[in-house]
Amino acid sequence: MAFESLSERLNKAIKNISGQGKLTEKNMNDMLKEVRMSLLEADVNYNVVKEFVENVKQKALGQEVLDALNPGQMVVKIVHDELQSLLGESDAKLHFKKHGITNVMMVGLQGTGKTTASAKIARFAKEKLGKRVLLVACDVVRPAAIEQLQTLGKNIDVEVFSLGADVDAITTAKQGLEYAKSRQKDLVIFDTAGRLHIDADLMDELKTMKDIVAPDDILLTVDAMTGQDIVTVAREFNEQLAITGLVVTKMDGDARGGGLLSVRSITDVPVMFVSNGEKVDDLEEFHPDRMADRILG
Ligand code: GDP
Repeated sequence: MAFESLSERLNKAIKNISGQGKLTEKNMNDMLKEVRMSLLEADVNYNVVKEFVENVKQKALGQEVLDALNPGQMVVKIVHDELQSLLGESDAKLHFKKHGITNVMMVGLQGTGKTTASAKIARFAKEKLGKRVLLVACDVVRPAAIEQLQTLGKNIDVEVFSLGADVDAITTAKQGLEYAKSRQKDLVIFDTAGRLHIDADLMDELKTMKDIVAPDDILLTVDAMTGQDIVTVAREFNEQLAITGLVVTKMDGDARGGGLLSVRSITDVPVMFVSNGEKVDDLEEFHPDRMADRILG
């Protein structure tokens, strides 16, 4: 599970300080050094770590803290708050329309878990939010993506619209929209094609799809196991498509968690969901405050 080692190290660093009645600049600096090392070891982006430590230092070396009755605990709170601000100030949620059909476009590189995440989010919206969901199979590039979505749809009892792999993605998207209207759906999730790498073809197709679908959310799936690559991919997709949220997948396979900790502050795109397994219910809404609690638990 991600963050185990970061959590252990961070807790150790601040535990040393939290028991102390009076703080000196020296033991504060030792603690900051340890915090810095533990974040770098977790593969958090270098600049993010630098800013994090600087922010903690400024707040922790303030006179208010040094004069406090229980300075150690104040420092723990400062680190916690900084961690939470790194992960996001508040929960990011799907942007549902007040009236009419809400459209969500799923984008991402091949193999990151986009098709699986489309079904997981469909299930979440149906079960937890009571939505009438339609999945539209617009990934006509990857062999078997359509069948995969149909199988997943059957498992979660959500209808899947497809025109087969011989019809292009744009036509499928257009007809999917019509179909959703005729069936009084209130959420449509479009699974789109990925590629092994970001290329102009992919982006052009996704931009055209965006014009047609007018999505309320564009969610990018990124694979936690690729570490810092998350940041690069998220930045690129955001520049080209203005994505509204991230689904960080395969958290169960990532021991360090540095990608997740860096991506928000660098790209300003919030993490909306995390996926931590292959099953359709292995999806959680992302709560920055709870994650910060967990890391400093
Ligand atoms: P796509 O090409 O982006 O549509 O990727 P898929 O949805 O087909 O997923 C690729 C592989 O990753 C499949 O074998 C999924 O079962 C697996 N997968 C997706 N999400 C997760 C996850 O959160 N954890 C793990 N361990 N595997 C996942």
